[in-house]
Amino acid sequence: MKRKGEQPPAETTHYIIAKNGIFLKKGSWWMDAVVPVKQIAVLERQEISLRLKIKPISAVVLTKAWKFFRAVYKKQFTEAAVLLHYSEQLGWELTVPKQKATGAHVDYEMTDRLPGYVFMGTMHSHARMSAFHSSTDIHDEAEVDGIHITFGDLDEDSKFSLDPETVVNGTRFALNLSHLEGLVEWGKNPAVKVVYVTTKPRYTIECPEMSNWVVPDGWVAKVEHPSYLTDFLKGPSASVPFVPPLPQWDNGIPAFVDENPAAGSVGLNPALAVALAQKGP
Ligand SMILES: [Zn+2]
Repeated sequence: MKRKGEQPPAETTHYIIAKNGIFLKKGSWWMDAVVPVKQIAVLERQEISLRLKIKPISAVVLTKAWKFFRAVYKKQFTEAAVLLHYSEQLGWELTVPKQKATGAHVDYEMTDRLPGYVFMGTMHSHARMSAFHSSTDIHDEAEVDGIHITFGDLDEDSKFSLDPETVVNGTRFALNLSHLEGLVEWGKNPAVKVVYVTTKPRYTIECPEMSNWVVPDGWVAKVEHPSYLTDFLKGPSASVPFVPPLPQWDNGIPAFVDENPAAGSVGLNPALAVALAQKGP
């Protein structure tokens, strides 16, 4: 270990674990050198792993988030975000932070805290785009250990696409769907006769106790949509502007490749693979 004041080992050849990586000190009759190495050949391989020790996110909280994202989308066609909080005794809860959103982006404050709860992550919507974590999302979420979930395709009634992930120190893990209470894959619910064919599975949440729950007006009001606000200030006759999706969304190909899709497969985002295959060479 490269620590201040510590002497290197006497052997000519040794590894150095330093602030900026792993290095090999190598010497022979003709040179002495320190070079970076990607791995330590003499050691065993270490796989990455994650075991969650918390309860599944409650269907109540998931329903609140989904209904809120839908309400925001219906009002102004934008994204929206909520913060997730967890308590071993009280379970899950969410808060709606102050935020600014467009059809393709949402900026929000991360400062909300609930007494007795621990801040555990974020959920945000992708408006009418599909659910995945964009490079912006990945950059933002690297700062926050916890659970990060994207809801997409909110223009569709009663179902949505979903990309749930867990982030630890910037490393992302697909969140097993069993950690989401009440989540049902659309078309697999025996009550739903239609089998929905799409590049990404659609989901719904079964939560009878929330069927009459209405999104508080105060929540939607927290999502500032700059151009909408400008329009609103012009007068009640001004139309609600519709921000068209970016060109890359028109052909169904996501702008970014999600390296850790919810499906758990490694490599190409399944949605991207399908879109590319359909597009042809
Ligand atoms: Zn996003």
